[in-house]
Amino acid sequence: MTKVGETVLEIDLRALEHNYYYLRSKIDPKTKFLGVVKAFAYGSDSIAIAKKLETLGADYLAVAYTAEGVALREAGIEVPILVLHPQEVSFATLIEKCLEPSLYSRTIFTSFLKMAKDLGQSDYPVHLKFNTGLNRLGFGEKDIDFIVSSLEGVEHIKVSSLFSHLAASEDLNEKEFTISQIRQFEKISSAIIPKLNYRPKRHMLNTSGIINYPEAQYDMVRSGIGLYGYGNEAAEDENLIPVATLKTIISQIHKIGANESVGYNRAFVSKTPKVTATLPLGHADGIGRQYGNRKGEVSIHGKLAPIIGNVCMDMIMVDITGIDCKEGDEVIVFGQEHSAEALASSANTITYELLTGISQRVKRIYKD
Ligand SMILES: *Cc1c(COP(=O)(O)O)cnc(C)c1O
Repeated sequence: MTKVGETVLEIDLRALEHNYYYLRSKIDPKTKFLGVVKAFAYGSDSIAIAKKLETLGADYLAVAYTAEGVALREAGIEVPILVLHPQEVSFATLIEKCLEPSLYSRTIFTSFLKMAKDLGQSDYPVHLKFNTGLNRLGFGEKDIDFIVSSLEGVEHIKVSSLFSHLAASEDLNEKEFTISQIRQFEKISSAIIPKLNYRPKRHMLNTSGIINYPEAQYDMVRSGIGLYGYGNEAAEDENLIPVATLKTIISQIHKIGANESVGYNRAFVSKTPKVTATLPLGHADGIGRQYGNRKGEVSIHGKLAPIIGNVCMDMIMVDITGIDCKEGDEVIVFGQEHSAEALASSANTITYELLTGISQRVKRIYKD
């Protein structure tokens, strides 16, 4: 293992490759694969990840906002990029950068169509998003007539796909609900597609959808968290390899006596003598205050050390009593040897939040 000497997020592109092939093995070889690289590729590095996915043969990428897609285009990424949640103010930029919008409401649809027309576009690829129960974004069944009539004879845009998003694909207690979402999508999409004189793609599955509902893979799947090495369930985590490892080092070690406190507001008061280590990362790096006060643990030489006291902006203190370590030693906050899933759940949150919260202050390095 290379010594890092400071807080870094180490990105393992071979792990990404492994996860990509694993997820692909779960679907038909003909099914297209969209890699979700929104939010800095789940807190890692969207450009490095997008380049690797492009090399691996991913058919599509997706981001949440237009600016994220612009950054990928400016880095030379050429595969089609779906923008999941664009706003009207960014439509001109979106077209200029050949990004493909998700159109999710009548307002957004009408405004994008006008922009495509004003900019002299023909057959500009768009994706229609349908709400089948998540109640977040998307057209409903009531919009079918609007969509069909608005598309009649239109040359400025062309529907590249119809899609929807599952609300609880990782939760098998909600199987009935998920199946009702799939049925609703089937119903809506089958009402629209025959009215077009071409065949758009259909897609619905995120990572847990690929694992639990492969029968609903349609023409494409959209995976995010699985690519980064987490499967939302222990059995799947075993088949995946975490891409990002957050590493740091021990800056200083203190021996504290009984009744001494550690950190701001004296949140930790020791009953017995202890040994503590101060680490150079804090809430400004994405390890939020919820991990403090013995909720979260870091790994030092394979042993778990709880975070004690309040998380500071730039530091955390951990209890290393009984752990054989010294100043300058490496600490794993999460990653291949200490799962982000375990750390996130210790503070009642989810891997998605922990990963995407790692701030841009943390240097990204690459393991090859
Ligand atoms: C973020 C997102 C995904 C990826 O979901 P994962 O659970 O990370 O695989 C897929 N589709 C949409 C619409 C999303 O917003």
